[in-house]
Amino acid sequence: MRTLITNIGMLVTGDIDAPIADGDSIVIEDGRIAAVGRGLDGDAAQVIDAKGSTAIPGLIDSHAHPVFGDFTPRQQMQNFIESGLHGGVTTVISAGEVHLPGRPKDIVGLKALAIVAAKAYGNFRPAGVKVKAGAPILELGLAEHDFAEMAAGGVTLVGEIGLGSVKTGAQAAPMVAWAKHHGMTVTFHTGGPSIAGSNPIAADAVLESRPHIVGHVNGGTTPMSDADIERVIDTDMAIEIVHCGNGRAAIHAVRAAAGLDGLRRVIIGNDAPSGTGVIPLGILRVIAHLASLGDVQPEIAIAMATGNTARVHGLDVGVIEAGRAADVALIDAPVGSTASTALDALRLGDLPGISMVLIDGAVMIGRSRNTPPAARAAEIAGAATPAGAGH
Ligand SMILES: [Zn+2]
Repeated sequence: MRTLITNIGMLVTGDIDAPIADGDSIVIEDGRIAAVGRGLDGDAAQVIDAKGSTAIPGLIDSHAHPVFGDFTPRQQMQNFIESGLHGGVTTVISAGEVHLPGRPKDIVGLKALAIVAAKAYGNFRPAGVKVKAGAPILELGLAEHDFAEMAAGGVTLVGEIGLGSVKTGAQAAPMVAWAKHHGMTVTFHTGGPSIAGSNPIAADAVLESRPHIVGHVNGGTTPMSDADIERVIDTDMAIEIVHCGNGRAAIHAVRAAAGLDGLRRVIIGNDAPSGTGVIPLGILRVIAHLASLGDVQPEIAIAMATGNTARVHGLDVGVIEAGRAADVALIDAPVGSTASTALDALRLGDLPGISMVLIDGAVMIGRSRNTPPAARAAEIAGAATPAGAGH
């Protein structure tokens, strides 16, 4: 199946090193991007007219807390992942399935949960969204063979360290090394406890154990001190900024990262479902926050929620370039904004409107039910665009 997206006004690649491409068309073949360029044509079975709007990669939420399917016990809510799709999110990465009622904390139980979550989401995409889950919460007593066993069962993540009994650098360091050895991507919670029962984590624990990702450097919800934020940024670790954190600390962190030429290490997550709620537009809101108040160009902020995250996690999404999975969102300035393009809207702090989202080249939704309406809305040429309710 060949799909052509034509009349793209601006093409934001998600690649922080070349964030805007010279092109107005994307050719998709069998779910993957086949070509990006100007005036591309060919005998496409499906033609999508972007109407001069902006194409960006589908957004990646680097920090979510799913459990099973599209239900969250944390806020008793159905279809929160589908709602996020209406906020442009096409890939969700678990930072731990911590909200499972009765979550087992013994070694056998936590391994079993991680393996089941990895396999269950491997078998099922809620609303078409790619969910990478199976992120065990580290507890004291785990040994290297436990990581080997989880890896053999399909586990490729470690949930944010600090939510379980492992909370110091000395406790975490050997486990982080084992996890890395077995191919897992590791996140460490930082800042104050999210809820009663978890633990405050400062820079020392992270610096001693060296995870891949400094989890919510701006707090989830309470951040470390500004000095500790600067210490963890002055490393080679990925720096995660989340919606359900401190907005001032997010700006402090991104400025510190920019000062160290470290913007390619910044990734964006939602940290929902959480006590703050379920926020379908959370990733877009962080992009707008950084682009309007953080001196970050909007196409760079978009790269933080797409290509940067894909690089950290080794995903084949997040960049609009030939060979990648064709996960694409078509966005524009919202009706009523003083801006006339999506990127200018973000510069002003306005959330863009989403008029279409594709995953693996298939149109998942037309006009978003959650963003404000896009001024220019993409349409499938010669066919009715699917309704906002999605699949
Ligand atoms: Zn956390």
